Amino acid sequence: MIPYGKQWIAQEDIDAVVRTLKSDFLTQGPAVPAFENAVAKKVDARFGVAVNSATSALHIAVKALGVGPGDRIWTSPITFVATANCARYCGADVDFVDIDPDTFNMSAAALERKLHEAELQGVLPKVILPVHMCGQSPEMGRISELATRYGIRVVEDASHAVGALYEGRPVGNCAYSDITVFSFHPVKIITSGEGGMAVTNDLRLADTMTSLRSHGITRAPDKMTGPSDGPWYYQQLTLGYNYRLTDIQAALGLSQLERLETAVGRRHELAERYDSALEKLPIALPVRRRNTYSAFHLYVIRLKDATKAFHRNVYEFMRDNAIGVNLHYIPVHLQPYYETLGFRYGDFPEAERYYGEAITLPLFPLMSEADQDEVVRVLTEALKNCAR
Ligand SMILES: *Cc1c(COP(=O)(O)O)cnc(C)c1O
Repeated sequence: MIPYGKQWIAQEDIDAVVRTLKSDFLTQGPAVPAFENAVAKKVDARFGVAVNSATSALHIAVKALGVGPGDRIWTSPITFVATANCARYCGADVDFVDIDPDTFNMSAAALERKLHEAELQGVLPKVILPVHMCGQSPEMGRISELATRYGIRVVEDASHAVGALYEGRPVGNCAYSDITVFSFHPVKIITSGEGGMAVTNDLRLADTMTSLRSHGITRAPDKMTGPSDGPWYYQQLTLGYNYRLTDIQAALGLSQLERLETAVGRRHELAERYDSALEKLPIALPVRRRNTYSAFHLYVIRLKDATKAFHRNVYEFMRDNAIGVNLHYIPVHLQPYYETLGFRYGDFPEAERYYGEAITLPLFPLMSEADQDEVVRVLTEALKNCAR
């Protein structure tokens, strides 16, 4: 099976991990701050807070922004469930903004309409959480303008998009948001095994997130409520978690970061190869917006006017022929858990239409051109032969 995504582990990654295993610290040592600083520098943000997953990063990000019971978070229905779940962890409500059918990102036009209505009804969100679907930035300029107009905070879920650019500047520079979150799961752009990071330019948010990732505990005398009892002393100031990244993971992440541009560059080469090979097929290919440079985490095609049966037949035909296609994502509002919260089929028609047509083709830096040609061959055959 040719997988849809796969990590790229080089000898230098293995060496870096082994060096850490032989060092004094497996966790809470020097590799984590080094990784935080390197990522922050790479994406042009002031601070990085490393955690054990992007899910944890999303949780502490919205928590640091004060999200709690009675608040609302709006995100895209086309994302991994974790993006919405972070609101639920805080006891807040979730709502969704339908997608732009070309980019599969939250539609800024739909957001504008929904904000207008929400203001009239007194149900504005506290945080908007756009997702950089497939690695391509949403319309952050417009989203940020709208958020400012209504006094709403913005967190970017850039789990797919480390190494991407928007308006010529790195995604993660937080020019349009309070916090940006990255994932280092093995299928993403770079990996630390499991891992994530929240980056921000706001010192207070960085401090709060740093505290939340480690039990709400501080050892800094200037942050304590009173004088220290002695050199052993620490204080728990809030209710935090153990969301720490290990030094073993950070060492891997740091080593991977060295190849970020190479990895994203190779993804673009392969994406362009797909573009020309698939051009004549009756499918919609990924649309690149002029002001973005995608990290190309995913190469998603849409079948045109597909029946449910045809979509499924094409998908199964490819799987049966050893092509590990995937589907990103099942609209979050149609998950049974979210249906218990009142969402229904029909709530977000563009997302639902997308779900009936989308297929993720394999794409990862180490994919060979021969494997890619095989994907093209099988897809061509599937579109020709599958029952409609
Ligand atoms: C992968 C992913 C997450 C969760 O990342 P983890 O590091 O696995 O917790 C969140 N949002 C999106 C859009 C993702 O793709």
